[in-house]
Amino acid sequence: MSISFSHTYTELPDRFYSAQAPSQVPAPELLQLNEELCDELGIDLDWIRSEQGLGMLSGNELPESAHPISQAYAGHQFGNFVPQLGDGRAILLGEIDGKDLQLKGAGRTPYSRGGDGKSALGPVLREYLVSEAMYALGVPTTRALAAVATGEAVHRQEGPVPGGIFTRVAASHIRVGTFQYFLVREDQEALQELTQYAIKRHYPDAESIIDFFKAVVSRQATLIAQWMSLGFIHGVMNTDNCSISGETIDFGPCAFMDEFDPKKVFSSIDRNSRYSWENQARIAHWNLTRLAECLLPLLAETPQDAIPLVEEALEAFAPQFEDKYLLCFREKLGLRTASESFINQTLSLLADHRLDFTLFFRNLTRVAMGEDSDFFAGHEKWLSEWKSYGPADASLMQSKNPIIIPRNHRIEEAITAAYNGDFSYFHRLVKAFKTPFQEQAEFADLETPPREHEKVRETFCGT
Ligand code: AMP
Ligand code: MG
Repeated sequence: MSISFSHTYTELPDRFYSAQAPSQVPAPELLQLNEELCDELGIDLDWIRSEQGLGMLSGNELPESAHPISQAYAGHQFGNFVPQLGDGRAILLGEIDGKDLQLKGAGRTPYSRGGDGKSALGPVLREYLVSEAMYALGVPTTRALAAVATGEAVHRQEGPVPGGIFTRVAASHIRVGTFQYFLVREDQEALQELTQYAIKRHYPDAESIIDFFKAVVSRQATLIAQWMSLGFIHGVMNTDNCSISGETIDFGPCAFMDEFDPKKVFSSIDRNSRYSWENQARIAHWNLTRLAECLLPLLAETPQDAIPLVEEALEAFAPQFEDKYLLCFREKLGLRTASESFINQTLSLLADHRLDFTLFFRNLTRVAMGEDSDFFAGHEKWLSEWKSYGPADASLMQSKNPIIIPRNHRIEEAITAAYNGDFSYFHRLVKAFKTPFQEQAEFADLETPPREHEKVRETFCGT
């Protein structure tokens, strides 16, 4: 049975998007299908595995109910405002079970500017792996439905590479940048419609626009705390990559850190460390301030009346972030009452000795479970202080400290193998990342940090 899309976004005015059919690709091949997610969304597995299913996932032949569009948005990229970005390589097919189904890398759109609208296979596999790992780790995120090879080469810095299409499922693709697109055009009517749409779709309990804004602030605050408690660096927290629904979106030059360095960045173009691990809360607050600017004209007749409302809402970011951040680290330490200073002391220890973030908490969990670990050799003073606050809650620690995270060198290894025609590494990672908190002897090799020559120092924008 074919897929049946609904369409609420295209009921918004025409200036919100452009109708755009995907490009044709020569030899599509289904590399990976997320069957659990298909089930969740009510997508028929026989159909999606059929020729018509592949037709949709490759953009070659869309089901009748699809209304393909590219969405318009603006955004601050590394702090610089770009009034028109938009889906330059993404095409939204419609909504299913209230969620967006989008093809990434399906060809040029009116927003492509100088780009080809396509995607190399590497970033497709990377987003598949990292977004699904994020989901398994319990963090709000867009999901991966499928990865397809197009059979066509795309031209990138490193030369011609195989092309791919990624099918993304998101609560929606409304970003802070979507609001900015209309603010810069002084289109108050569109801002009002977009806000009402976002409330209806994501915050139905909000009774007013300021309530809506407070709820967005709250979701961002908890999201960033969750990222940080996993050593995650998003890498490109531009306002166009900041989802109104509170999901993690756009996995380009992101990473789960190996050795802990709060100042670490991964994007090759992030020269000022704007998006380092430790800056992420500050940046989220900055992005939310940009959203607040868009809402000002809707909140009161004059900015003077509106500003105090958003200021109050923005002030709630820090305490909410800190509460969640402290809670996450207390859970990781297995100590529900650990002080902020002990948490800071722990992170300083990690940073001073460049300890592996994930292994540290993984080994601490082992100690809490009464197992032996020589990980803390040389750090006995810290360990005995941790013990002095005990007993630590070992089962809580097991449920919060992952054993397997998507380490960059493993992702790179899987991409390199895929470029050589071997997808077994990729498929193995898909499987391993599904249950990050479980001991899995067959994946023990994936627990270890990279050796010196395996280290990935920066990743490039995922085009
Ligand atoms: P992102 O890096 O995904 O946040 O993208 C930033 C902006 O660049 C968005 O407007 C994208 O649609 C656009 N973009 C990225 N890669 C391409 C590409 N290959 N072709 C066209 N537009 C692109
Ligand atoms: Mg983006």
